[in-house]
Amino acid sequence: MIEWLIAVVLAILVVYAGLPFVWTRGLGRSCIRRTPKPGCVALTFDDGPHPVYTPRLLDALREAGARATFFVIAEHALRHPEIVERMLAEGHEVQVHGYRHWFVPLLPPGLTARQCVGAKDVLAQRFGIEPRVYRPTWGACNLATLVMLKRHRMSMLLWSVMVGDWRRTPPEELVRRIVAKLDARSVIVLHDSDESPGAERGAPESVIAAVPAVVEEVRRRGYTFVLASECE
Ligand SMILES: [Zn+2]
Repeated sequence: MIEWLIAVVLAILVVYAGLPFVWTRGLGRSCIRRTPKPGCVALTFDDGPHPVYTPRLLDALREAGARATFFVIAEHALRHPEIVERMLAEGHEVQVHGYRHWFVPLLPPGLTARQCVGAKDVLAQRFGIEPRVYRPTWGACNLATLVMLKRHRMSMLLWSVMVGDWRRTPPEELVRRIVAKLDARSVIVLHDSDESPGAERGAPESVIAAVPAVVEEVRRRGYTFVLASECE
């Protein structure tokens, strides 16, 4: 009897959490991983806003004259609304990374909805914006996520360039890794907070320091920056 129970639970887990992972991350279905047009590169930052790092990142982006998309954690956005206002005022885009930095695959449908649609509604109400692009925390979703996104006409944007910037890494090494992977339709993901589980303290320092060289390389190749909503 217990074996049957275990088998049923495992089967449910496979369908609810495993297959959606293979479907999105493995097969690239129901998600976007590259920009639609060659020559368009998306620069995206996850996990913020952070009171120390994000304003300095915004300074660096302003200095470099580049537009980026911030996939924010709604709880952090509510805690630091002035930083979100600044992102918007400076031409960046704010999209949804989650309500909290939770591991979505094992969340029940109600909490799953709060991570995507719920966080979107909170951001819409607080900041008067219409986010419709979701990047699940750790890029991992479940069956309920896919149903919710379809029902609410939201899309999922993952990435094509990820370089382990949540670990403390010399900025020149980050630049080297990004440049090695960069192509004409890249979606680059970086992180502007070190408070998420798994992040090393101080890691965003290098991200901020790497931004000018990354922007310069993108420009040198003749690419332009696009926002997440332009990738749908
Ligand atoms: Zn994240």
